[in-house]
Amino acid sequence: MAGAGMRYGGTLVVQPVRNGLGLVALRPIAAGEVICHVRGRIVTAATVWGYWKRDRRRGENCFRFDADHYLDPEGEIGAYANHSCNPNARIVRGPRALWLHALRPIRRGEEVIHDYSTLLGADDVWTMRCNCGARQCRGVVANAGRLPASVLRDYRRREAVPRFILDTL
Ligand SMILES: [Zn+2]
Repeated sequence: MAGAGMRYGGTLVVQPVRNGLGLVALRPIAAGEVICHVRGRIVTAATVWGYWKRDRRRGENCFRFDADHYLDPEGEIGAYANHSCNPNARIVRGPRALWLHALRPIRRGEEVIHDYSTLLGADDVWTMRCNCGARQCRGVVANAGRLPASVLRDYRRREAVPRFILDTL
């Protein structure tokens, strides 16, 4: 499969996981550690809308970046960052970049996963059926405003939802 074997230093490798390819830890990662820089191109919402029509997968892989922009990780390691309803990582935005930070300790060989809903603002209408396998799987990935109140509270406490997404709720 294209992308398999791609590495991020000695930290991550792209490997087959539960649903296609994913990011697997090559070493133990401590809670709070910066895991990787999510590289990509900053594109407009209109560009992402174009992806939806041509290539749904590429649209799904884009990370919300601000009110009007997304980060398109095509060809980079971020394109393999999968969703989970029980994430072990969160997205943090810097001035011109996104970063993955560990929410809890991650074992060597464990998949690094974040919750896509934490990057979907109230104006994001996109949804995805979820088959993440977590005990608390919600069955559907929708915007942060549709998270169960207890989950949103927990994510707020752990700063797992970026400010610009919270501002839309
Ligand atoms: Zn799920």
